[in-house]
Amino acid sequence: MAGMDNTTVERPTFVTHLECSMTGERYAADVVQGLSREGRPLLVRYDLKLLANSLSKVELLKRPADFWRYREFLPVRQTKNIVTLGEVTTPLQPVSRVQELLGGGPVVVKDEGRLPTGSFKARGLALAVSMAKELGLDKLAIPTNGNAGAAMAAYGRRAGMEVFVFCPEDTPETNLREIAMQGARVWRVNGLIHDCGRIAREGVDPMGWFDVSTLKEPYRIEGKKTMGLELAEQFDWQLPDVIFYPTGGGTGLIGMVKAFDELEAIGWIGPKRPRMVAVQASGCAPIVKAWEEGAEHARVWENAHTMAAGIRVPAALGDFLILKGVRSTNGLATAVDDDAIEEAWAEMADLEGILLCPEGAATYAAYKKELASGRVGAGESVVLFNCATGLKYEMPPVTAALDCHQPVDYTVLGES
Ligand SMILES: *Cc1c(COP(=O)(O)O)cnc(C)c1O
Repeated sequence: MAGMDNTTVERPTFVTHLECSMTGERYAADVVQGLSREGRPLLVRYDLKLLANSLSKVELLKRPADFWRYREFLPVRQTKNIVTLGEVTTPLQPVSRVQELLGGGPVVVKDEGRLPTGSFKARGLALAVSMAKELGLDKLAIPTNGNAGAAMAAYGRRAGMEVFVFCPEDTPETNLREIAMQGARVWRVNGLIHDCGRIAREGVDPMGWFDVSTLKEPYRIEGKKTMGLELAEQFDWQLPDVIFYPTGGGTGLIGMVKAFDELEAIGWIGPKRPRMVAVQASGCAPIVKAWEEGAEHARVWENAHTMAAGIRVPAALGDFLILKGVRSTNGLATAVDDDAIEEAWAEMADLEGILLCPEGAATYAAYKKELASGRVGAGESVVLFNCATGLKYEMPPVTAALDCHQPVDYTVLGES
């Protein structure tokens, strides 16, 4: 393998090169890379033949239940560069009452809230920071709606790096505080995520930091890819029919599609793909609009607003990759409004004891909508992504109170 020093590598990795996601042009691995010459995301390519000969499903079963079990599918060359906070395999929770209520097929919630920093951004940032370490970087910057910044602060500080974070001013308060608490320098910016992105980009020269924006470096997507590997293994290599994914920058959707392609290439799954459903909020739905118009790229969404901050992304660098993933799997893109998100949020918690994040609730709202519309069939098995723990978000207030100095009228307690 090119560029490998066999004296320092404990377990082989299989990266051959990076590739422009638009033109297919090759770029060198093992050096710091951002976007391609065309300004498009770079994808990591592996020697999948060699990988297939080096790892078996049986071997995989013997490994610990964290995502480094998929080490051969990941770009880190040397184990000593892995920056970890315990990236557990996240559970699939069946929701049979929901299934009964809606009369659809089997539904499971993939609960990503169990990951370090309480969101699936940990997957991407664990890889980005590990690769930053491997490539000798020690100063990182990121624009974020909250969770990516929190994950970068945690992993960056874990690796002893300097971390700079730029958030839109309406970023959830918990996110801002966890970022600050985890040793990053964080600023509220009076704009949206792309305004924060410009600050991160323009600071590269004067500050000498590396820009870890969504899809502007090649490795966050490799971390998110583990969602697809994990799902395939959890489904015993028979993938579900439909995946509902709350889509902001789309890293996870693109990553899962890549994972399934790699798994098919090594013969672990067949050609069947889950239909990928990109879920957005009605107040910020550029991908849905582009999908409906049959466009290859999305246009910037003006006046973006939604309570689901994680999917408040007016322009996604990987828009064409998201749309390709949706179309190539015969999926769809759909938007739900904040009222439907709030209702779905409360309903899932009440029916199943699962406290989603608002973006996770959006996937449930979208499933209800599309089951009713018939675009998702009653016989189809479904995965809903809950991307963060619900505990990070402000919930409706509680007003009920009891006076412990007065006799309690127990007869009315069951009514409230
Ligand atoms: C980042 C984020 C999303 C969107 O994920 P992408 O892969 O960037 O599209 C959804 N929900 C939450 C909670 C997030 O933090």
